[in-house]
Amino acid sequence: ENTQLKDIVAHAKEYGFVFPSSEIYDGLQAVYDYGPNGVELKNNLKQLWWRAMTQLNQNVVGIDAAIFMHPLTWKASGHVDGFSDPMIDNLDSKKRYRADVLLEEKAAQYENAGDKIRADMLLADMGRLLTAEDLTGVRQLIIDEKITCPVSGTANWTEVRQFNLMFSTQVGSVADDSSLIYLRPETAQGIFVNFLNVQKSARMKIPFGIAQIGKAFRNEIVARQFIFRMREFEQMEMQFFVRPGTEMEWYQQWKETRKRWHEALGLPAEKLRFHDHDKLAHYANAAVDIEFEFPFGFKEIEGIHSRTDFDLTQHQTLSRKKQQFFDNDLDENGKAYGNYVPFVVETSVGADRLFLATLCQAYTEETITEGEGEQQQTKTRTVLRLHPALAPVKAAIFPLVRKDGLPEKATEIFDELRHDFRLVYEERDAIGKRYTRQDLIGTPFCIAVDHQTLEDNTVTVRHRDSREQTRMPISELRNYISEAVSF
Ligand code: ATP
Repeated sequence: ENTQLKDIVAHAKEYGFVFPSSEIYDGLQAVYDYGPNGVELKNNLKQLWWRAMTQLNQNVVGIDAAIFMHPLTWKASGHVDGFSDPMIDNLDSKKRYRADVLLEEKAAQYENAGDKIRADMLLADMGRLLTAEDLTGVRQLIIDEKITCPVSGTANWTEVRQFNLMFSTQVGSVADDSSLIYLRPETAQGIFVNFLNVQKSARMKIPFGIAQIGKAFRNEIVARQFIFRMREFEQMEMQFFVRPGTEMEWYQQWKETRKRWHEALGLPAEKLRFHDHDKLAHYANAAVDIEFEFPFGFKEIEGIHSRTDFDLTQHQTLSRKKQQFFDNDLDENGKAYGNYVPFVVETSVGADRLFLATLCQAYTEETITEGEGEQQQTKTRTVLRLHPALAPVKAAIFPLVRKDGLPEKATEIFDELRHDFRLVYEERDAIGKRYTRQDLIGTPFCIAVDHQTLEDNTVTVRHRDSREQTRMPISELRNYISEAVSF
């Protein structure tokens, strides 16, 4: 229970899950690479999400839109004018902070000290000033609250400025204003601009959804907490188009569906909670976060937003192309609903944040007892208790010794099962050591081939979580593993 983020970061690096980007050059802040085990875990998460969305819901289809989009997209969505965070610098330490985060941390201190009223008042003041774009007021609040720079302890703050989080670059060889384009800060807009293409080509009727997984980029002011807040990350988003007036029902439904999905992945109910937004974004009429309790507290992993008809209407205005659906269903008066701009309920989850949540949840250090009688000893073991469907390796196959035909027999089993599961084969080191290595990466099963195997075609299956061993005919392995790793 005392797992710290630093243990997770160290483990992730040592066992090939996550590396700092360009590490030989001392890394690039808030950018990370996934290693051999990390990419498997992340792909498993993405596949399960994709399947839950597009395969289990007949009325949800997928797309894969480009990262670059026409610049007017971001004008329409509000990102050019409004996608910014209030930034403040400390003159002594030359460190940069998000003004709202400094105030939120102060509020958390009040709350931890039992002063919930003062915490709420501070947050309300901040919300009011930010909505009114009173940035001088936000600075004054930081000064009044005697917030000092966490590094230098000084209170020497600059004014607060809005800092746009979009990365921009130039297309083509002539650099002028018209060639300025952005790296998408969310995948959602690629869905909105394709609304009619998808609706018509896939012959969708409202209500229906469009799902997408892809990279998004934000020039976050403060990048902390490992892969929780990155400058390049991956989103899994679904926009669900509904008839106006029905959005609240769908909002409730998706909210529950999505929380249940996280629980099915192995995130326990008591570590998940909803957090309603008091302060709504310009496009939303309801919004909730699903939060997970990370080692650094409850934080958002997924957002469910009722986005009204904001995005499609904006695109309709700026593109001068109708973004409407003709609904020939009849209302209670027997009249067709006709043409309208659909409302949208969005579910948006970060693949990297979810990865971090599953890793934090799975990471376990435990005291175990091994051996019998005189030989008995206790030791600590580190194990990743990942849902078997998420595990990078589903089973490891070990010949007990490197002779007597055991490697050949083990290789035979490996060749038979590798078409169905991601496996590893290992014959070096004592078997206990090989088990330990698989525990560290969360492999649910280790299959040991011994002399008895040559006589009766049975193997020992060792279970990651209980460390129990069961004897099983080789012929049953495929079904047994299949069942355990299904989701
Ligand atoms: P935050 O308040 O933490 O910045 P947000 O409310 O801006 O997040 P959304 O715009 O709702 O986030 O994005 C949806 C999801 O995308 C988030 O729930 C999160 O999982 C993921 N996400 C957003 N920003 C980042 C980031 N910088 N790094 C990793 N994942 C992110």
